[in-house]
Amino acid sequence: MSLANGRHYLAIPGPSVMPDRVLQAMHRPAPNIYTGEMVELTHSLVPDLKAIARTKHHVAMYIANGHGAWEAALVNTLSRGDTILILGTGRFCLGWGEMAKAMGIDCQIIDFGQRSDIDMEQVAAALAADTAHKIKAVLAVQVDTSTSVRNDIPALRQTLDAAGHPALLFSDNIACLACDEFHMDDWGVDVMVTGSQKGLMTPPGMAFVFFNDKADEARAKANLVTPYWDWRPRSAPDEYYRYFNGTAPTHHLFGLRTALDMIKEEGLENVWARHATLARAVWAAVEVWGQAGPTRPNIAAEQKRSHAVTTVNFGEGNGQRLRDWMTANAGVTLGIPLGGVEGAGGRKEDYLRIGHMGHVNAHMVLGLLANLQAGMAAMQIPHGPTGLEAAINVIAEG
Ligand SMILES: *Cc1c(COP(=O)(O)O)cnc(C)c1O
Repeated sequence: MSLANGRHYLAIPGPSVMPDRVLQAMHRPAPNIYTGEMVELTHSLVPDLKAIARTKHHVAMYIANGHGAWEAALVNTLSRGDTILILGTGRFCLGWGEMAKAMGIDCQIIDFGQRSDIDMEQVAAALAADTAHKIKAVLAVQVDTSTSVRNDIPALRQTLDAAGHPALLFSDNIACLACDEFHMDDWGVDVMVTGSQKGLMTPPGMAFVFFNDKADEARAKANLVTPYWDWRPRSAPDEYYRYFNGTAPTHHLFGLRTALDMIKEEGLENVWARHATLARAVWAAVEVWGQAGPTRPNIAAEQKRSHAVTTVNFGEGNGQRLRDWMTANAGVTLGIPLGGVEGAGGRKEDYLRIGHMGHVNAHMVLGLLANLQAGMAAMQIPHGPTGLEAAINVIAEG
């Protein structure tokens, strides 16, 4: 007997839960890619994507995952031998830096570790030391999906401005666009990258690079740019095929159109607010469980946590045991630990990651938390017994 047989909930931090409406929109025969509905639909995506990024500037769409967006952002702005500053707060920004290094870019790295956000004083010191302005771009993630930290992107812009430093500001929003609040133009972000499969609720396979005119000026000098990844024709196509430099990702576009409609119908502010409340429900349970047991959120300060994903240390290999129990008994699959998050004695297995991004609601999150508590009870992992009640109270208060 298994209690898992019912509708499965994939609660990993991407790919996220895909709405039935999105899947149904994709279930159709091949459309014509030269005229008609497909063409109109593609044009219609551009303003809606920009609205979600809160930018008036440009967007280039790619048939790629998030790593493709990373590469696109780098090749369109940089030349071999350029220097960039990498602000590591987990696996992802460091990974972006490794990619840049392999492309012949000189990476200056500040690693803030696995449990902290960006320390602006250290960034200010690095910028002040760069009197020759060799640093061409500063790379950060808004949310690092391995640690679940949320960085203060407006503060990073203020740090660049206070230093009078002309470097471009890049933000990786692959985990958190349409989950955590973000305002590209108001926050002074020059390049933002994201993918289809997290907050945008569409299968993996599309990536987006948003850029402003300052970044496009860098494009004029970048010697890494290649025809396929060039953002210019994609963002201002003179013919339809140039959006994707070849055949469009037809079915993804129908799915994405529906996902963007859903975000519009709900309202982006309401989407952010839903994520914030669901995240607080998760944190409330984790906090109470930790009052009588080993459970701890990876990021101590609430205002530094993402609303899209929560990395939790359950202690003593319990992260992995709970994940296995949840899949087998509850029909919920939680995220594996990623990157350098490590418990006592270097044990990764202490951790798991709870994805609460995209098409997720109160009953899903409460069900997930109730079953985590059931798992802890079943395996005799010590925990504060009213964690679920604490989460229920967050939902009740709204
Ligand atoms: C998921 C993710 C990526 C990588 O995206 P892929 O689609 O797996 O290439 C990069 N950065 C962040 C912050 C992510 O969450």
